[in-house]
Amino acid sequence: MRFPQTFIDDLKRQADIVRIVQDYVTLKKAGANWVARCPFHKETKPSFSVNPSKEIFYCFGCQKGGSVFTFVMEIERVTFPEAIKIVAEKAGVPLPKMVDDSRFEARKRDSDQVVELNQWALAWWQDQLQGNAARAVRDYLKQRGITEETSQTFKLGFAPDSWEALSTHLRQKGATQEQLEKSGLVVKKEEGGSYDRFRGRLIFPVFDAQGKPVAFGGRTLDPEGEPKYLNSPETAAYTKGRHLYGLNLTRDEIRRQGFAILVEGYLDLIVPYQFGVRNVVASLGTALTPEQVKLIGRFARKVVVNYDGDRAGVQAAKRAIETILAEDIEVKVLVLPDNADPDDFIRKHGVTEYQQRRGAAQPHIQFVIDQAVRDRNLHSPADKAMAVEETLPFVRAVRNRIQKREYFDIAMDSLRVQREQRRELWHQVRGVASADTAAVQNVIGQRVRPTVAEEKLLGLLVSSDELRNIILPRLEPTDYEGLPTAEIFRALAALGKDEREISFDSLSEAAANNSTATEFLARLMMSEPAESFDESLADANSCLDALRLMKLDREIEELSSQIAEADRAGKDEERDRLAMKKLELSKQRSIYLPHGKSEN
Ligand SMILES: [Zn+2]
Repeated sequence: MRFPQTFIDDLKRQADIVRIVQDYVTLKKAGANWVARCPFHKETKPSFSVNPSKEIFYCFGCQKGGSVFTFVMEIERVTFPEAIKIVAEKAGVPLPKMVDDSRFEARKRDSDQVVELNQWALAWWQDQLQGNAARAVRDYLKQRGITEETSQTFKLGFAPDSWEALSTHLRQKGATQEQLEKSGLVVKKEEGGSYDRFRGRLIFPVFDAQGKPVAFGGRTLDPEGEPKYLNSPETAAYTKGRHLYGLNLTRDEIRRQGFAILVEGYLDLIVPYQFGVRNVVASLGTALTPEQVKLIGRFARKVVVNYDGDRAGVQAAKRAIETILAEDIEVKVLVLPDNADPDDFIRKHGVTEYQQRRGAAQPHIQFVIDQAVRDRNLHSPADKAMAVEETLPFVRAVRNRIQKREYFDIAMDSLRVQREQRRELWHQVRGVASADTAAVQNVIGQRVRPTVAEEKLLGLLVSSDELRNIILPRLEPTDYEGLPTAEIFRALAALGKDEREISFDSLSEAAANNSTATEFLARLMMSEPAESFDESLADANSCLDALRLMKLDREIEELSSQIAEADRAGKDEERDRLAMKKLELSKQRSIYLPHGKSEN
């Protein structure tokens, strides 16, 4: 289901980006731009600006930027097609018919139907929670310290202990048997017909990021009841591992605070929320999936994992760490004393104590090391080897090169690994991570080696017009000068300026005087556009950062040898001037580091 590209282009021209951004942020005119304090990160001075003639926005603080559509996607947390609808409505432009995709349409229809039944069921369950039959549930909530207000916020409900009360209600509302079965709210009987899935349970609805109920969890109130938690099956509206509990309520706070606290269960989220800790999401039982991490990553690039402190919780936390690191998000780990979960801990010790512990959460590597040395004797070479083996995957999984080295050094120091062994181990840690790079280098040839960042960025640029429109204006010639693929970047920029078509022919013509570039082109043109525009834009931005970082690294390295030279030659003034310059570059460099700090 897509809008025709011509409509999107027209709409972008007709919709005044300043007027649309104004609906969300108060802008002030400053030269050619309009500026404001950024809605996407916390700041005191305005570094968010909108350029109406270029039809873009950009934040110099958090580097978010893009078209009016990107802005609406970010601020409303919606998909690209939904952003188009919103912009069209605000601009008073009528929508054209969507480019049809019948399978998508059918699935969407099914999904909408499931959501509608879920909404009916939820409203009814919420009513039931007020009735006489729900006294025990209300007592349970009271005993867990959950207020009426919190219960309303999370739309908790009660499914009475009946085989058909809900089905009867839904049929009265007009649901057919087929719809009931597709919704997962009932269980099909072998002999035909069905019965209510949730009976005698406290109901926790799970919402998608837009606040639609997509699934339910039901907790039994019978101490003997099995299972303790019963969950919705997968439906057209719900795929396991795609949603995070609570995100619909906590996403703004997560964005404001710049990090998310990841917990396991419903109450681990609800109780902290009630006490004012509102940047929390819950992964709900199953192992954390890459999709869930990507979802968090849209709101913050740091996660504090706060799982149970028991053995199962620690194992789950370690798996979560690997999944999070793979998405290039920074992880810390909070383990509460006495194996407490966040719910218990806050009710027992208060929220201030919880926040203090959270502030002192360990970097993931420290947590992993602690686990690895537990019950082991580092004086025994065999034990030490096992501890190292257990720790290194968590160093290897770190994608940022500088951080990786930092964590490696911490691990080696903590595990008392000797200097000579370190070099070998570092080689291994790097070797595995760069295996793909080696393959790339073989294809391209030995002398000239485009980096992963170059190749990826170019791949993204050639595969998406929309992305090119955003990234090309930000690309400076200095970003690619001296790179083996510089010709292709230059060609893209030139073709973009003339609004000419991007194709293998037009690009290779423009880059004809460079053979490496041409060799490289065909493969680039094979790049498939990624599923999500959001993701591609984030990828492109981090590639661009990587290019700038590499360039600064080359300059700094160059300066270092110049300084050493000047020093040896006794040219003190020259040396100090170079050192100042290096300091300047190191500062610039820190902008591109996730911590916002430079090494040394
Ligand atoms: Zn910002």
